[in-house]
Amino acid sequence: MDYDVVVAGGGPVGLMLACELRLGGARVAVLERLTEVDPTIKGGAITTPSAEALYRRGMLPALAKVQRQAMDRFQTFIRERSGGDGGGGAGQGLGYVGHFAGIMLRADLVDRTEPGLGDAGPAAEIAFVAQQDIERLLDGRAGELGVDVRRGVELTGFDADDGAVTVRTSPEGRDLLGPFQRPLHLTPEDPHRTPAQPVQL
Ligand SMILES: Cc1cc2nc3c(=O)[nH]c(=O)nc-3n(C[C@H](O)[C@H](O)[C@H](O)COP(=O)(O)OP(=O)(O)OC[C@H]3O[C@@H](n4cnc5c(N)ncnc54)[C@H](O)[C@@H]3O)c2cc1C
Repeated sequence: MDYDVVVAGGGPVGLMLACELRLGGARVAVLERLTEVDPTIKGGAITTPSAEALYRRGMLPALAKVQRQAMDRFQTFIRERSGGDGGGGAGQGLGYVGHFAGIMLRADLVDRTEPGLGDAGPAAEIAFVAQQDIERLLDGRAGELGVDVRRGVELTGFDADDGAVTVRTSPEGRDLLGPFQRPLHLTPEDPHRTPAQPVQL
């Protein structure tokens, strides 16, 4: 099988990049060494520009859904802890445009006259989306777009000469690897077009 691009790493950046490349017509594979989305606590919220970028790709309804679920879980948690009503914030607008190192950024303090900080429309309603949820959504979207996401495969290096690039993966020789039992081989269609050479698996 031929690919134009092999992306090392299926985190949010690798998956988003793969989707964008696929939208541009490239044949893309993503190699991710983990077999599942990393459960380590990382991002718990996104900023409005990130939400806008995902909004432009039609992902807002899915993000709103996982955010609603997260808020429900959070309010249940607060209710159980305090015996109160959970704060009642849901559905009243978030009031925040993201956070920096856990310090919440209040939406009412944003200077909307600054270029790039104007009205973000519906994207402004999205902030509390965990990184794992974003990765799962992007993983699904990548699959729908035809990106070949290979989990459990680590890219360990590559060798290049004038005629080809050979990509090395690990572990080798396990059933899991399928076509990756042999190294990826990148063969140029046109030796003068080095940045866009197809990859053969
Ligand atoms: C505690 C913590 C809190 C954070 N909070 C926030 C937050 O609230 N909001 C926010 O926006 N950001 C937050 N961040 C930052 C955010 O997690 C990173 O910016 C984001 O993960 C970067 O995405 P990435 O895809 O570039 O890299 P990663 O998420 O690190 O993904 C890289 C992926 O590549 C895989 N990989 C690496 N090398 C190879 C290889 N050779 N072959 C195959 N696979 C490989 C890894 O397994 C991994 O899955 C936080 C980070 C931490 C640690």
